[in-house]
Amino acid sequence: MGKVEKNKLLLASVLGFIGLIINLYPIHLFANIQLILGNISYVVVAILLGPWYALYTAAITVTGLMIVWDSPHVYFLFGVEALFLGFARRRDIYALYASFGFWLFVGMPLFYLYIFLFTDLPSSHIAFVILKQGINGLVYTCLGSILIILTPSFWHFKSKLKDQRRRTFNAQLTYTFTLVITVALLLAALLFNNQFIERQQALLYHNIENSADHLGLSTQAYLNSHRQAIKNAAAWLSLNQHSMEDEQILLSQLHGNYPGFITMLLADRRGSIIGASPASLLSSLENLPTFSIRDRNYFVEAFINQRNYTSPVFLGKGFGQDPIVAISAPIYRSDTPHQPIGIIEGSLDLKEFKVIDHINASSDNQSIVLIDNHHRVIYATDNLNISPLSEFTYTLPSRNYITPFPTLNIAHSDNMAPEYVYANVTLENGWQLFVLNPFRPLVELVEGMYLATFAILFLALLITIYISHVISGRLTLPLENIASKFSTAPENPHVEYSVDSESPQEIYSLFQRLQQSKSQLIGYQLELEEKVALRTLELERANNKLQALAEKDSLTGLYNRRYAENQFPAIQELCQRSDEVIAIALLDLDKFKFINDTYGHDGGDLTLKRVAELLCQEFKRESDIIVRYGGEEFLLIMPLCNALKIEGHLERFRLKLQEIVIEHPKDKVQLQVTTSIGAVIGNGSFGASLDEWVKQADINLYQAKNAGRNRLVFTTLKDS
Ligand code: GH3
Ligand code: MG
Ligand code: MG
Repeated sequence: MGKVEKNKLLLASVLGFIGLIINLYPIHLFANIQLILGNISYVVVAILLGPWYALYTAAITVTGLMIVWDSPHVYFLFGVEALFLGFARRRDIYALYASFGFWLFVGMPLFYLYIFLFTDLPSSHIAFVILKQGINGLVYTCLGSILIILTPSFWHFKSKLKDQRRRTFNAQLTYTFTLVITVALLLAALLFNNQFIERQQALLYHNIENSADHLGLSTQAYLNSHRQAIKNAAAWLSLNQHSMEDEQILLSQLHGNYPGFITMLLADRRGSIIGASPASLLSSLENLPTFSIRDRNYFVEAFINQRNYTSPVFLGKGFGQDPIVAISAPIYRSDTPHQPIGIIEGSLDLKEFKVIDHINASSDNQSIVLIDNHHRVIYATDNLNISPLSEFTYTLPSRNYITPFPTLNIAHSDNMAPEYVYANVTLENGWQLFVLNPFRPLVELVEGMYLATFAILFLALLITIYISHVISGRLTLPLENIASKFSTAPENPHVEYSVDSESPQEIYSLFQRLQQSKSQLIGYQLELEEKVALRTLELERANNKLQALAEKDSLTGLYNRRYAENQFPAIQELCQRSDEVIAIALLDLDKFKFINDTYGHDGGDLTLKRVAELLCQEFKRESDIIVRYGGEEFLLIMPLCNALKIEGHLERFRLKLQEIVIEHPKDKVQLQVTTSIGAVIGNGSFGASLDEWVKQADINLYQAKNAGRNRLVFTTLKDS
């Protein structure tokens, strides 16, 4: 293992353990919602070191969550996430975008499956929990990315990336904006939402407690006033003797003042009813001659134990079948103050607690439950569906569900989420009053806030993408335009481009400078082109001269021998094909040595020039080639000539030459020259090489010299 690999493993391990410790202390948000930040570790490792190191780090980090949450699924879910981020990074996809993709298409569906299969979370809550997990993922991915940007010692790992592309400025700007906005918005939202929710909850609980106190007092007062009524009535009956009729009237009057009693009755020492309200009850009882209340608790307590008594709740017998609470007191005679003569009893109509319940109508979410000392329900708000007399049972929700106030479940004891937030007070007689507020609306409030936050986040991201597109456009568009304008082969060379007023100053000055240099460049280019053209012309002239030099004789301007030799084969071929003749004449100036010796070399040269001029005058046909064959020798090649006239033409030339007087321009000395001519005429088919022809002409020239010079020897060649 190389040094780099050791370093990588060390980094992955250290980050993993830091993550583990952070994950042991998740940040509690609300109820069972927690923010986990330890996973930043494997995000960092995924970005820096790739998928496999990330998986390793995730295994360590997630152990923290395993300890806290006690569910092994975390290894799978977050392991997959680590691999996903690592592989995305290998393809050079930004971590935040990869995280978006992961949670949308893999993470949230997986998490849903887990919750659905392995937990008993209420279905209304699942969507929120899943969304929260996804957002949590985005938060720690953002934080991880920012951590890398802000930690220079991480940077040297970056070069290990595969397939790194050059990104557009637009992409870079958009990503940076998105990263910062996501982190800022999410953290701010979590913080403020949390604070708001805590306040909201404190307020709500304060409200519930207030209601409990207030309703407790009302209930107590209601109870007290009815107990007092019975007590007063008993005292009044004890002090004065009344007829049975009077007692009955008194009872009816009392009942009229206290409609909270469903029934009221007077009983004698045997437990027989001697008075009742409503009075109709009495007549119904007369049908039951054996009816007695002597075994009832309220009789026993009041008559035998001689005390004012309030019963627990029980089902009334005899006077209807309603659940009632009986309040009773003993009645005495002035002569027997220690031995009661009977009791007075009132049965509290439990439905009358509705009045108290309705006092609380302002907070319509709240319900109340009133229970007696035996935990039997005296009154419960209708929507709770708890029948009076039943035992009030409730369970406390799971400890994982952290709430800052007491909660309980009534309907589903196995429900993980609490059903109600509650407060309770105990009345003087041991009764308990519970004020219940459903928990779900609270959760919905929180969920609503988070959903709003996420919607804002999404909107902010869209705006971010748009804004960064516009801003980067101000930079990149003019840059691209400038690049195309100043490129060597512009796409549209005739379109004039100018930087618009929205573009930054830097771009504008770049544009101006480039424009300056371009016009300078164009100036240089034109200058250079001009110079090149001039030089080319000079070179062409020189070349032409050189060419002429190669083909012509510099003294006379006539063609030289090489030219004649080069041209002759073509001429010969033409004449041979068209069955034409060629005449060749070789001229040698007579006694030229003498001219040189007498008039100097200059005189000789001058003579040569004059002879050449005369030749040019006399042999004007385009097909004639006049050649300075060497020294003072000239050669005439005359294809397509008139065989009959050529001899005369040559003869005329010889005669003209001998007449010409050449005057030396310096010393005005006059001189003359003659020439001997050896000429031949033959069919083109005679010979292909010039030498063959010249050889024949030379023979004639030799004869002309021998015959005394200044003469023409002309012969016709016969085909060999
Ligand atoms: P002939 O032909 O009548 O027998 O006598 P010649 O004196 O002309 O004979 P020769 O061939 O011996 O001499 C030729 C002379 O021509 C020799 C040389 O000095 C002269 N000559 C050859 N080329 C040039 C030239 O370009 N300029 C001058 N001035 N003289 C030349
Ligand atoms: Mg000669
Ligand atoms: Mg000569």
